[in-house]
This record gives sequence, structure tokens and C-alpha cells, in this order.
Amino acid sequence: MRVLVTGGAGFIGSHYVRSLLSGAYPAYADAEVVVLDLLTYAGTLTNLAECEGNPRLRFVRGDIRDPRVVGEVMAGVDVVVHFAAESHVDRSIAGAADFVSTNVLGTQVLLQAALDHGVSRFVHVSTDEVYGSIDEGAWPETHPLEPNSPYSASKAASDLLARSYHRTHGLPVCITRCSNNYGPYQFPEKVIPLFVTNLLDGKKVPLYGDGLNVRDWLHVDDHCRGIQLVAEKGRDGEIYNIGGGTQLTNKELTLRLLEAVGADESMIEHVPDRKGHDRRYCVDWSKIANELGYTPRVPFDEGLAATVRWYAEHRDWWEPLKKRAT
Ligand code: NAD
Repeated sequence: MRVLVTGGAGFIGSHYVRSLLSGAYPAYADAEVVVLDLLTYAGTLTNLAECEGNPRLRFVRGDIRDPRVVGEVMAGVDVVVHFAAESHVDRSIAGAADFVSTNVLGTQVLLQAALDHGVSRFVHVSTDEVYGSIDEGAWPETHPLEPNSPYSASKAASDLLARSYHRTHGLPVCITRCSNNYGPYQFPEKVIPLFVTNLLDGKKVPLYGDGLNVRDWLHVDDHCRGIQLVAEKGRDGEIYNIGGGTQLTNKELTLRLLEAVGADESMIEHVPDRKGHDRRYCVDWSKIANELGYTPRVPFDEGLAATVRWYAEHRDWWEPLKKRAT
């Protein structure tokens, strides 16, 4: 079996590749993995360093928007797990063009190549942000798409294209929509690694607005196990929400991070709110739990403590990336 992983040098994609190659997914124990990644500012081969020399891994530096390179890597592929995307909301507010071209056009190029090569499963990794913002309760997969940022709008557009390739052409697509992830190897512009690395450097942490925006935090390992269940057992054309993390306001999250590094509230710098900032996200993940037996495993306190420790012990990983990003 051959699995094509797009964006496999990014945060979540590299966790998936490391897990797969280390035998965490027994059904794919012998699978060959092809990673297609452009190595934008967000992708780095150091995320795959522990897999270096593994004969089951082939890395191809290339753009998912390029039909030639996508056609070449798609040959002989059975399963596509599509992570590659522009993923940072703040960057999409500063400039949305790359989000539209990579997330929308890039996904269409992949879907077409997957169709041309007859792949048997295409997992399109999406986000709960496509649903918009919800004051109370939780979104089922049938909720209308009401994305509010250029990032989430581009992801929603890619979800609809993925759906259309199933409905029109019968491509065996599944879509996953997950809540906020945390864990090692997350690029230090996202809130948890940004705050932890700032605090490790004795710098303040910028808290948006009143700090009361709510997010559901799920460990990246739980997200990847959910994706794997969908890859193996998901029904064609179906959407699966992935959640079950811990809901916290940004203020509560910040207080936990301050405590973890032994700092106090004087390290918070209140900054103007993000434009169009979604107030609350919350997915109903009963479908993947009931149909595929998914359940999150990593308790938040343990996962967060391990994550903070990882950043403290891996300055060599994040310092160059943080310099590159500014
Ligand atoms: P990331 O930004 O860390 O990684 C993205 C990867 O895609 C990078 O390695 C980058 O080099 C690559 N890439 C970007 N443009 C490319 C292109 N044109 N061609 C080839 N490769 C390209 O992102 P992440 O946080 O790992 O997110 C992965 C996926 O999961 C995304 O699709 C995102 O929308 C989704 N998601 C993320 C979260 C989260 O909390 N981070 C939650 C739910 C869903």
C-alpha cells in the first residue's frame, strides 16, 4: 500500500507520518509513505528528522498547485491524506491570496489527480472553523458552513470541492473537521507555542481582546488517530467532526501556560482583538465516536505539561523558525 501525505513536513502532517512509520497504525504497518510538501515558512524537514533513512519514506519537495508534480507523485498511490494548507488565520487577514490558491486550487489539483489515478481513499483534512462561531451547543456535521476568516472560507471552499468530486465523480472522499490542536512541532506563531516560547525567553504574551474566546484543545495525537480511523473505516462521501478536547477561554489557557512556566499575570500584554474573531468553536463528535469508535486519549493537563516541556527542551527547533517568521 502507498499513502501520499501532503503537508507532511508541517505540524499535524509530520505527526501523522512519524506515527505511521513508527507502527502506531497497525493496518498501515507496511505502507510506503510519499510526503509532498513545498516547505513554505511553516514546513521543515527537521519535523521528519527521526524518519530520515527510513526506506518506507520518500520526500518530494513540490507544490500541490502544480499538476505535473502532483500527477507524478499520485502514480501508484492508494490513499491520500491531505494536510497541506496555509493554516494561520492572522496571516489570512494580512493577505488572503496564498490561502485561496493553495487551499482551494491546490485541493482541486489533488482531487483531479486522485480521480485520474483511481485512488481508493482521499481524506481531506479540514477544520471546525468552517462552521463559523457558535455561542452555545455544538455543531453536527450537517450544520451550514458559515466561515468568517479568509482562512476558514478557503477551507470551506476546499471542503465543497472535495464533496463535489465525490458526488459528481464518485471519488471516495472523506472530510474531517477538527478542533484546535496542540503538541510538539507546532510552528511558534500559533498561540500555545508562541506563548510558551515567549515566556521561555522572558517576553510577554499578547492576549487578544477580552480573552474570553473559547477553543476546544485536542492533542495532535488524538487528531491523527481520528484521521487514521477515517482513512481505514470512514464511509465514502461522509464528513467526520473530530473533537473531545478541553474547552477553555484564551484567558484560562494563558493562565495555565503562565503556571506551567512559573510566571504570573504581569506577563500578559492585552492587545486589540483580532478582526472578525470567532467567539466560540465546539464540534459534536458523536458521529466518529459511534461509527468508528474514536475517543480522545490524551488528558489535557498531561498533554499540555509534556508540550511545554518539549518546547523548553527543543530551543534548537523553534528558535530558527521564530526568527524566520518575523
Ligand atoms: P502547518 O501550517 O503546520 O503545515 C502546513 C504544511 O503544508 C507545511 O509543511 C507547508 O510547507 C505545507 N504547504 C503549504 N502550502 C503548500 C503547497 N502549496 N504545496 C505543498 N505543501 C504546502 O499546518 P497544520 O497546523 O499542520 O495543519 C494541517 C492541516 O490541518 C491544515 O489543512 C489545517 O487546515 C488543518 N487543521 C489544523 C488545525 C490546527 O489546530 N492546527 C485544526 C484543524 C485542522
